[in-house]
Amino acid sequence: MRRLAGPTGHVVVVGAGLSGLAAALHLLGAGRRVTVVERSPGPGGRAGRLDLGGYRIDTGPTVLTMPELIDEAFAAVGTSLRDRLDLVPLHPAYRARFADGSRIDVHTGAEAMEAEVRRCAGPREAAGYLRLRRWLEALYRAQRRRFIDANFDSPLQLLHPDLARLAALGGFGRLDRQIGRFLNDERLRRVFTFQSLYAGVPPARALAAYAVIAYMDTVAGVYFPRGGVHALPRALAEAAAEAGGTFHWAQEATRLERAADRVTAVHTAAGLRIPCDAVVLSCELPTAYRLLGRVPRRPLPLRHAPSAVVLHAGTSRTWPELGHHTLSFGRAWRRTFEELTRGGRLMTDPSLLITRPTTHDPSLAPPGKHLHYVLAPCPHTGIGPGPDTWQALGPRYRDELVAELEHRGLTGLGGAIEQAHLVTPADWARQGHAAGTPFSAAHTFAQTGPFRPRNLVRGLANAVLAGCGTTPGVGVPPVLLSGKLAAARVTGLRGGDRSRTTIALAS
Ligand SMILES: Cc1cc2nc3c(=O)[nH]c(=O)nc-3n(C[C@H](O)[C@H](O)[C@H](O)COP(=O)(O)OP(=O)(O)OC[C@H]3O[C@@H](n4cnc5c(N)ncnc54)[C@H](O)[C@@H]3O)c2cc1C
Repeated sequence: MRRLAGPTGHVVVVGAGLSGLAAALHLLGAGRRVTVVERSPGPGGRAGRLDLGGYRIDTGPTVLTMPELIDEAFAAVGTSLRDRLDLVPLHPAYRARFADGSRIDVHTGAEAMEAEVRRCAGPREAAGYLRLRRWLEALYRAQRRRFIDANFDSPLQLLHPDLARLAALGGFGRLDRQIGRFLNDERLRRVFTFQSLYAGVPPARALAAYAVIAYMDTVAGVYFPRGGVHALPRALAEAAAEAGGTFHWAQEATRLERAADRVTAVHTAAGLRIPCDAVVLSCELPTAYRLLGRVPRRPLPLRHAPSAVVLHAGTSRTWPELGHHTLSFGRAWRRTFEELTRGGRLMTDPSLLITRPTTHDPSLAPPGKHLHYVLAPCPHTGIGPGPDTWQALGPRYRDELVAELEHRGLTGLGGAIEQAHLVTPADWARQGHAAGTPFSAAHTFAQTGPFRPRNLVRGLANAVLAGCGTTPGVGVPPVLLSGKLAAARVTGLRGGDRSRTTIALAS
């Protein structure tokens, strides 16, 4: 593995999102002095917090998986997940509701899910589910160390027995076909393939290797930290500060001072100059490239993942048919992906993720009230409505979503909303996300593993990237890994050499 050249005693990390915080913890654990510069007043980045009329709202991720990666970051500085967060395993992980009125609870325990599949689709499908589960586990084992938790210096690194293993498992086939080898029931196929949208690619085009996301949430488990997901970055930042890290909040990095091929200091808009031996840039790729003064040439421009509209609704009531996470599928499926990824249109028959965090932490809302988070995937602004169009479209689309949810059983939703906040691609664009999507570059084959924007910066001896734009990719587990991998580029220690997790790896 290539590492940064020259001294690395003091590292400045730009950005206190999950990747920057993970990098800071792994660097501190390896004995580096660390200064974090963050443009917002607090940590979290996309895993942010909005306080609205007594509601404490998570603005980003809600489906938390792979807690051992969180623990690994804490363990780097000698503390643990158990000491820092109250993590609740969700049973079921999701509740899936379908247009025909049926419902499937997605359990992560093998026995519970086998029974649920038997109930809703019969014994043949239940046997298929168990085979699928074994396949997902094997797929994850084949990829974890070599392809996901890995710093790439060359595509040749892929040439390893694990590649043959992955190929033999069908990892280079198409996701929907591979899942179809195990399951016939259309509803179950959706439950195990919709996750490819997290990677920005429809199941019909996604590599089957991306079934690892289904492994993460349908096998390894979904968790919820009491206090909301934002409690995670807060706890990581606290641990880093206690381990000696220095934080400069509300300081936007605007310039990198250079001497030959080294970054020698980070300048902020408020006039700070922070000298450094090395820098980790964990901000969005366009910002990182602007600071570096260069955009690496690629054979093809980056393709962006679809974006999302999020409606945060503080309500006077809730609906018993909802789980902590509810997948509300429309009748349409292939058409929905076509609209999102090629047609550039809003979903005509939407599939939605509804999260009710007050299921497990009522304190996130005023007494007796409830919080609902509705995520509606939508095209990014490169192919869909642009930021200006969203100004007028946003409120209309919000009303459409509320009407659709009422039609699907959340009767009285519109009248029950006491506080609402709508986030559209125009807001994501304003925050600096390319193509108005917070989900960064899609995980197409050409933007995966060694072909994704690298974390080392050509021509600079002491700068490294972290975050969802670089390897391994988008989502909480990948960005925690990206922070660890960035730290490994600085220290030369392979991630995990210095740290250990204090909890068992998920089965
Ligand atoms: C609505 C939504 C829902 C999601 N749902 C899920 C989910 O359920 N499960 C899941 O696993 N993932 C989910 N994700 C994805 C996941 O949240 C992200 O991939 C991850 O949080 C990105 O982390 P990051 O560190 O790469 O970037 P960020 O969180 O964006 O961190 C970058 C930080 O850099 C700071 N910054 C930027 N520029 C500067 C500058 N010039 N100077 C100083 N600081 C700067 C930013 O303020 C920010 O704090 C979701 C994301 C969103 C937005």
